[in-house]
Amino acid sequence: MKDILQTINRYSVIYPNKIAIRYNDHSLTYKQLDTYANALACYIMSSRTPLILYGHMSPYMIVGMLASLKAGCGYIPLDISMPTARLQHIINKVEPNFVLNTTSDEIELTNGEIITIDDLQQMSVTTREFNNIQEVDIAYTIFTSGTTGEPKGVQISYGSLNEFVKWISDINQLGLYQHWLNQAPFSFDLSVMAIYPCLTTAGTLHLVDKHMVAKPQLLDDLLRSNNINIWVSTPSFMELALLLPVFTQEKYESLGQFIFCGEVLSHKLAEKLLHHFNKAVVYNTYGPTEATVAVTGIQITQSIIQHYNPLPVGKPRAGVTLAVNDHAELIIMGRCLSQGYLNDAIKTAQVFKEYQGKQAYYTGDSAYYLDDMWFIKGRMDNQIKYNGYRIELEDIEFRLRQIHFIQEAIVVPKVKQGKVVQLIAAITLTKAVSPEEVKVLKSEITPLLAENLPTYMLPTKYEILEKLPINGNGKVDRKAINEVILR
Ligand code: AMP
Repeated sequence: MKDILQTINRYSVIYPNKIAIRYNDHSLTYKQLDTYANALACYIMSSRTPLILYGHMSPYMIVGMLASLKAGCGYIPLDISMPTARLQHIINKVEPNFVLNTTSDEIELTNGEIITIDDLQQMSVTTREFNNIQEVDIAYTIFTSGTTGEPKGVQISYGSLNEFVKWISDINQLGLYQHWLNQAPFSFDLSVMAIYPCLTTAGTLHLVDKHMVAKPQLLDDLLRSNNINIWVSTPSFMELALLLPVFTQEKYESLGQFIFCGEVLSHKLAEKLLHHFNKAVVYNTYGPTEATVAVTGIQITQSIIQHYNPLPVGKPRAGVTLAVNDHAELIIMGRCLSQGYLNDAIKTAQVFKEYQGKQAYYTGDSAYYLDDMWFIKGRMDNQIKYNGYRIELEDIEFRLRQIHFIQEAIVVPKVKQGKVVQLIAAITLTKAVSPEEVKVLKSEITPLLAENLPTYMLPTKYEILEKLPINGNGKVDRKAINEVILR
């Protein structure tokens, strides 16, 4: 079987003028994609560290991905939503030789040579074809929220990536030459589910940017003017689309398949979607970033909807073994597993451990097996999904406690119909203050937090308590706080 790089290179020869990636008015053909990627690969060939890709939905982010794979160093995508302090923290950890800045903003960094799109466009074209990456080499590292206030870099090998892409290609029931919609920013691995399966089946990848998330009308334009066929998103994003006045198969005839991952696909949402798109194939997939995007999948049919609520996440893909331990925690084994968190042996050892003699990842998800299918019950820790984003509540709490007037902090997710709809922080102050001062202090919290946390992690309400309740073990009693706050 041809791997990702070989396949895309082949398409650049047989379909040179076919559009590979489109974002608003920007597009790159297969030929341009491969040519730029070769030029950049040649330039960064000496890199001994992953290539940092900074930006949002620029097609050049994908040029950078392919270039880093060709060069053999792999990449780390960092989205513009990340505050400078968090960005700098990651850069300090990686000490990159090269950073591709696909934005027009200047970034000041202490490490690495910055390459701009202008630089990239002026690099000399090479006829050499690069395919340096080996199966065991790290293809990408994606940073995700960490409990100690520091993001963790999940490293995924090229072999695992290829295996995952092959599986999605099997799930794709529409075949070659499709128009794919990618919703997730590249710094989330859900984007991997659209990028490579699209580009290895001669499709065109359409990138949704953050403005479309706020304005469904822009999404309507994108869907109709590009005849999108395959939709890859979180269920949360689908809920936004369902706000469109008419979101039906009749209006969006070309939409033939939906693939979801990243959070619970609710029974209600799936039912509504199948009702509106009765000819479309709807897939629910499940997996953590640590096991290469997704490890189980199932087509959600009318029959599944009738028989199961909550919906199943399906069967494991080839090469993946699942089990539950005595605490009903889901454990993943197989080649899909990450080789651990970048430069973080301690956090790696906490969750990548042996299970019955095999290397395994302990997911923190509580799960059960029924009728030959896996079901996810919920989290066993304080990790949540909020609008599709993975957040460790302790990450926010750590940052709250760094604020000089805050003594203690607990973040409470407000849940409606199984979905987190708001983050509320319960805090105690370092000293007693007047009601007027409380108002001022509250207004200072969000800007201070935003120096370290992306907007999607910011609580929107702060409750000041005299003290946080403590449970029998002497620990802060989250349950009791939830009751106080959400009363
Ligand atoms: P991430 O690493 O951002 O993909 O988040 C992984 C976590 O998201 C998993 O450990 C689950 O808690 C949750 N998750 C992902 N997909 C699903 C799904 N289909 N159903 C329920 N939970 C999911």
